[in-house]
Formats: sequence, structure tokens, C-alpha cells
Amino acid sequence: MNVSELARQLNTTTTELYHLLPQFGFDIGRKAVKVDDRVAYKIITAWPPLYRKWQDEQKAKYSLNANEALKARAAGEETEKKVVPVPSAITVRDFAGRLNLPITTVIRELLKNGILASLNERIDYETANIIGGDLGVKIEPEVEKKGDEIDNTSLDRLKDILESEDKKDLEPRPPVVVVMGHVDHGKTRLLDAIRKTNVMAGEAGGITQHIGAYQVMVPFKNETQGKIENRSLTFIDTPGHEAFTVMRSRGAKVADIAILVVAADDGVQPQTKEAVKIIEAAKLPFLVALNKIDKPEADIDRVKSQLSEIGLQAEEWGGKTVIVPISAKAGMNIDKLLEMVLLLADIDKEKIVSNPNRRAVGTIVESHIDPQAGPVATLLVQSGTLRVGDNLAINFALYGRVKALKNWKGEFAKIAPPSMPVQILGFKVAPAVGDILEVPESVKGLEKKLKPSYLVQEKSVITQPIQVAAGEEAVAKKKYSIIIRADVLGSLEAILGALERMIHAEVGVDVVAKGLGSVTDAEILRAAATGAHILGFHVPIAPKAELLAKQKGVVIKHYKIIYDLLGDVKKELEKLLPPEVLREEFGKIDVLAIFRTEKKYQIVGGRVSEGRAENNVKTRIMRAGEQVGSGEVVELQAGRQKVKDALAGQECGLKLQTKDAVEVGDKIELYREEIKERKLGF
Ligand code: GDP
Repeated sequence: MNVSELARQLNTTTTELYHLLPQFGFDIGRKAVKVDDRVAYKIITAWPPLYRKWQDEQKAKYSLNANEALKARAAGEETEKKVVPVPSAITVRDFAGRLNLPITTVIRELLKNGILASLNERIDYETANIIGGDLGVKIEPEVEKKGDEIDNTSLDRLKDILESEDKKDLEPRPPVVVVMGHVDHGKTRLLDAIRKTNVMAGEAGGITQHIGAYQVMVPFKNETQGKIENRSLTFIDTPGHEAFTVMRSRGAKVADIAILVVAADDGVQPQTKEAVKIIEAAKLPFLVALNKIDKPEADIDRVKSQLSEIGLQAEEWGGKTVIVPISAKAGMNIDKLLEMVLLLADIDKEKIVSNPNRRAVGTIVESHIDPQAGPVATLLVQSGTLRVGDNLAINFALYGRVKALKNWKGEFAKIAPPSMPVQILGFKVAPAVGDILEVPESVKGLEKKLKPSYLVQEKSVITQPIQVAAGEEAVAKKKYSIIIRADVLGSLEAILGALERMIHAEVGVDVVAKGLGSVTDAEILRAAATGAHILGFHVPIAPKAELLAKQKGVVIKHYKIIYDLLGDVKKELEKLLPPEVLREEFGKIDVLAIFRTEKKYQIVGGRVSEGRAENNVKTRIMRAGEQVGSGEVVELQAGRQKVKDALAGQECGLKLQTKDAVEVGDKIELYREEIKERKLGF
């Protein structure tokens, strides 16, 4: 049996299966595609109780962790926390594994912090640190990566390519620089200031684009030759809440040099220390930009002494750390800073090289869907040269073909040599930030290795009818059909991952189709044909499609927050759940006489044989043990008086609203019903 089939039968994912089976005593291997049928049968039989036990343990552990974290926080006992080493980037799955927590718990915590990450996506050290803290675990940088099984295939591939080059083919390339530091210390402002050094006032097309990275030319005095030469520097440009983006650690992976920004008025702060740890773990040469020296509160010496306290002794104080006082705002000393970066790069000259004459390979540093152009992404070329017409592959799956290349100034380019960030048009599928992109040797070779599951398929995905393990009865699940459109692959994967977890015996989500980009006629027609709702996440709808949706009565919902989307799906599933009926039985009456029979009601006399009789209750009319009708008591009399109830043994008269004729000798059973809407537990 295929592992995916087994996962389906167990109502789980293959990832979870690979993760849990060894713990459950079944070692099928991490990459097994098939499982022997007998083993599969054993797994199917053993799975339900083991899985329940595991879930209970996780719940206990999680709540324990949360409680411990709260207690520890209250008592300030940071030291008691479990310490987990984490590398500069780690997949969500591996991170959850290290924390010994369910992947969903980690994904949920990430979502709470505004990060949409699927289980295979990487988070950076800093994110892991914050999320770990929230989950009651202390995170520390893993300085040396031991040979443990991190799912690093594509990163390893990049490393292999970069390291396997023949020395004679290697040529110098521009250094790649990443800017790090505490929030508000001026990273964005510094990146802007550096960018401006290269855009001449009034320069044609002077509106620069934020494409995830940019390249500037720096005049540099060559001491030996005594002349000024222009040298390029590439900057990873990560705007927004960097502490929470994968980019930073990616930056550290793709960068040759780091600039640590420290505000002269604020000094060393927690994120400064974290950045230093990441830089040191990545063994990146770096210098300190002591920013905001224009401010009256700036105290350069105080910050320098704080820096030496964390092991960064300034050169002028006998240490090794280059510290350049700057003002990003006033544009002060930016040229000096860049010159120092180049000097630092020269020390590492032999490492800052690559082979420009090979098929391009690099890292995606930005990716989005353009309403007109479709998926657009920026590649930082790390080796080789990218050309218009080149095929694009990620993880041996074809992602498209280069239609056009643009630099950060928005100018078209024909080629992109090493260290050049370049925006690529021509993706069929949007890559994710951090993906390693490669120009494949041939598309033919790719097809063999093509992993269709990796691609977002546009074609309709018809969900399998639910399979049940032998011995269990099939339950017809009610399905909420949806078509999902999202802006980027990361969001789509996060949504799908969360939906996969919405497991319930009676109801389920049926993803009729999924894809990236705006909602078009194709989705509307498919929704109309299948009765699905269209859920759009950060995607627009083409005006024509909107009209069509109205005509066809198709429901389209737009979301900006993943929680809202998931919450709505849950509500829709709850609507499908048959309500819970709480029934209270409280008495039986033997019918002794029929006083009157009208079209809609009867007046009967009887004696309460069990429990009690009450007014305004429902009834079942029973004859010879079988139900022959139903009705409602609308009036109850005892001793010719209207009463609320009559007790066992008492005679009473009933006005019964019913269309079914009651006969002498029938039994009337009285009950009350409460309909309760059910809620889902996930
Ligand atoms: P980031 O969070 O590190 O990217 O910080 P920003 O670049 O957004 O800067 C935070 C704040 O500090 C902004 O209001 C900036 O205008 C201000 N800022 C940045 N650099 C300087 C500087 O050199 N001098 C002064 N006075 N303010 C600065």
C-alpha cells in the first residue's frame, strides 16, 4: 500500500505518519513510499488507540509546558526551562520535533505572531527563539550543526554546487551584505540611505523597486594601484518586521558579510545580542554601524563599552571589531561604512567567488503575485549566470521559464551574473522566499524527478471518498466544498496544512481546487458546478469574474487574516453538523377515553401510569408498543381544573394537538426536547 493511501485511511498526513510511526513501534523508514500490506494492516489496527494516547500525551505536555512557562515567568526562573538548541534556520516540522510538540501547536503559535509557515517552511533562529519562549522552552543557538537529519536537501544541494566548483573556474563576485540589529535601531533607514548613494537625483527611471535585494556601486581607492575603482556590493533588503521573517536567516545564509546596526542612543539590546549569536554561528565577518550619532542623546563611548561587554571590543580600544559611527538619517559616514565593508570583504577574498559560467543557481529573496504579471520573484544569483529563456526549477520541479529579467531599478536585463539580485518574470508557480532555484540541465531530466505534489496544481482535485479501516462502518461525511486562492505559496500551504487538521467523523472540508493568484472565471465556473465556496486569501477578483459570480450565485469570501478564514470554515462545518437533541422523558399516560375529536386536536382522558404529565410537552402516541403518531399537549386538566402537571396515578384530561387519531388503550409518552447546536473542538 502507498504511504499516502495509508495516511488517508488513518485520516492523517504522510508527514505525521513518518513522524509518529517510529514512536508507535513501526519503522517504515523516513522516505518509504510503499508499505507492505500486512504491515499496513497492523498499523491500521494499532493506530487508533496509540494515536489517542499520543494526542493525550501531547495535550498534557503542551498544557504542562504552558503552565510551566507561566510559572517560570512569574518566578523569574528562566533557568528551569528546557533548553533546546536551534540552528540559524529550521523547518517548522523539525522545530516542532525538537520541542517535542505537535506541529499544529507550533504552526498555531506562529500564526498568533502573524507568521504563515507551513511545516516544510523554514523559520529563522530569532523566530524560533520567540515562539519557543511563548511555548515555555528556552532556545539557544546551535553553534555547530551536527549530522542530524535536518531536511535540508535543497540547501545542501546549493552547498554542494557552490563547493564542488573547480577552483580554476572561480572568479571574484560582489560581496553580499545583510543588515541586522535591534528593532528601531535604523536598519531600514540605513538600507534606504545606502540605496540612495547610487541613485542620482533626476536619474531616468530613478524610482527604485523593493525587490528583496539591491546592488550598489561603491567608489573604492585601490591602495596598491593608487586609483579609484568602482566596486559592487549587494544588499539583502528586508523591509517589514524582520524579526519575524525567514529572510534574515536566509540573509545570513546567502550573505558574506553582516552589518550590525546599534543605535548610539539606545545601546546593546536583546535583539542586538541575538543578532551577534546568529552572525557568529554563521561565521560571518561583520562590522558595527553605530547609528543615530546625529541625536543629542547619542553616547558612543557608552555603547562601545556595552559592546565590549558582549565580546565586541572596538579596534581603537585594542579589540578586533570595526565600529563605524554613522547617521542613516543625516547620511553621515555611509561612504566610510561601505568602504569598511569592502575592506572586510577583501580579507575574505578567496571565499567571495563563484563560477559565472554555469547554469544559474541561487536563493529566492522575494516573491509575490502581480495582478497583471502573475507570480514574480527575485533571485539572488549565487553561482552561474541567469539568462532570459532559462528554465526554472525548484527541488527538481519545473516552476517556469525566464520571460524577462529586471534589476532593482526596474530596468530590463538580459543576464544576471553571480551576486546580482534580479526580478524574474515567467514563473508559472510562485516560489517561496528561501527556495533554492536552479536552472536545470534539461527539462526532460526534470520530468523524471518531478514531484507533482510540490506544485500547486490548477486542475481540480477531487477528494477521495473516505476510506475506513476494516471492521468499521462507513460514515457518510458531510462536506464543505471550497476553492482556495491565495497570494503566495506559503500562505496557501499554511491554509491547507491547517485545513488538514480539521478532522471530524461527521463533517469535513473538500478542497475542490486550489491555486495562486486572483479569482478568475475558471474558479467561478468550477464553484458553480460543484457548489463550492471560493475563499480568497489576499487575492483580488477580476471585475468580469465578479459579475459572473453574481450571475451564477457563487459565494466568494475574502480574507486578510488566516485565522478568520479558518474560523469561517469551522463555522460552515458546524452548520453541517446535525444538531444535538437533548431529550427529557418524563411520563406516560394510559388513554382511557376520547372526549372529542377535531381536525387538529383531540381531547382525551387518561391516567398517568409513570412519571408525571405536564402541559406544553411533546408526545408520542404508542399502540401495541409501536409509535402511531405524535402531538403536543396544549392543555392539561385534573379535577376539571387547568393544571401545569399531574402525578403518577392521577387521572387527567389532555388537549392534544395532533393529526393522528388517538384510541382508547393507546399509551401517550411525554417528553421535552432541546435542540443544541454542536461546536467543533478544533
Ligand atoms: P529598523 O526597525 O531597525 O528598521 O529601524 P528604522 O530604520 O525603521 O528606524 C527606526 C526609527 O529611527 C525611524 O523613525 C527612523 O527615522 C529613525 N532613525 C533611523 N536612523 C536614524 C538616524 O541615524 N538618526 C535619527 N535621528 N533617527 C534615525
